[in-house]
Amino acid sequence: MKKPIQKIINKMMEENVDIAFFDNPNTVYFLTGFRSDPHERILATIILKNGTSFLFTPALDEKDAKNIVEDFEVFSYLDTENPWEIIKNKLSKENHSLLNWAIEKNYLTLLKKEYLESAFPESHYNHDFSNTLELLKLQKNPSELEKMKQAGYWADESLRIGAETLKVGITELEVVAKIEYELKKRGIKQMSFDTMVLFGKNAASPHGEPGNNRLEKDQFVLFDLGVVHNGYTSDVTRTLFFGDQPSEHQREVYETVLKAHDQAMQQVQIGMTAEELDAIARDVITNKGYGVYFNHRLGHGLGQSVHEYPSIMSGNKLKLDKNMCFSIEPGIYITDDVGVRIEDCGYLDEVGFHSFTSFPTDIDTYKHLK
Ligand code: MN
Ligand code: MN
Repeated sequence: MKKPIQKIINKMMEENVDIAFFDNPNTVYFLTGFRSDPHERILATIILKNGTSFLFTPALDEKDAKNIVEDFEVFSYLDTENPWEIIKNKLSKENHSLLNWAIEKNYLTLLKKEYLESAFPESHYNHDFSNTLELLKLQKNPSELEKMKQAGYWADESLRIGAETLKVGITELEVVAKIEYELKKRGIKQMSFDTMVLFGKNAASPHGEPGNNRLEKDQFVLFDLGVVHNGYTSDVTRTLFFGDQPSEHQREVYETVLKAHDQAMQQVQIGMTAEELDAIARDVITNKGYGVYFNHRLGHGLGQSVHEYPSIMSGNKLKLDKNMCFSIEPGIYITDDVGVRIEDCGYLDEVGFHSFTSFPTDIDTYKHLK
């Protein structure tokens, strides 16, 4: 039995939970190795306290799932069948208590919970294992880290394509389109979130999104993007200066963010708490008088999804540990003026922080683009 499953069963024992039902596709993949997006259909792992485990899939996924999963009995339903009845029939043969259920409250919809309640009216659904699962996903194994390095490589490639596309008069959306077109040509199917390309003041707006703004000389261009590669995500931000010479103000804001980013990357180590890491970067920005313009946490974890534990922020006393993956992304956003963010994601080990991305951060690297 795989280690995470054993840990879930231990937790079920502790909380006197009879059955765990997880229908978050990322959790299903994490536990079973089977990846699929079921859309409106039901894909779920069902684990009983005695260790019996099921993977429930739409019928069209059954064969693929059976080829991949071990330790789980696969069963399925057709579109014309009622999935909840099928689950009920299957579980009723187990001769096992189904009274107390663990679910992922941050995923199970109210509608699905109501279906469960009508299929199992005697049961209780108040054990939330969201946190337990997030903690199990925190430390990545070598194969996961390798996938994340590859996803990082493609994020760097995206930045390179974006930087080369910049020219006076081009729109933000044209740059987005070029990046995504070139990536698809190279076999990358999916971005990890909507690609952000923001010019000048638009990067300073908390609700900035790419539109028809045209690039002018002497503006910053903020790229925030990532890809999904082999099921794992990347996430990187660079703010490039487009023009001849940044103003003193632009340079000061940029260098402040860069110093915060670099110090956090250099000083982070195993055993430091998430909030201590946040403070390293925040102090740099606050000491320069820009603290009020750094209005978000320093970073977030990532893996199969682009936002996971750990949250790198004040108040989080979680100790950072080996093979945790997270972003370091300080920023300064002065409304109607300038927005700068620099972000790298990486993993931690005894040596320090290893970034998945390595695109240059020197403000002068790209200023002489056409
Ligand atoms: Mn991020
Ligand atoms: Mn980002």
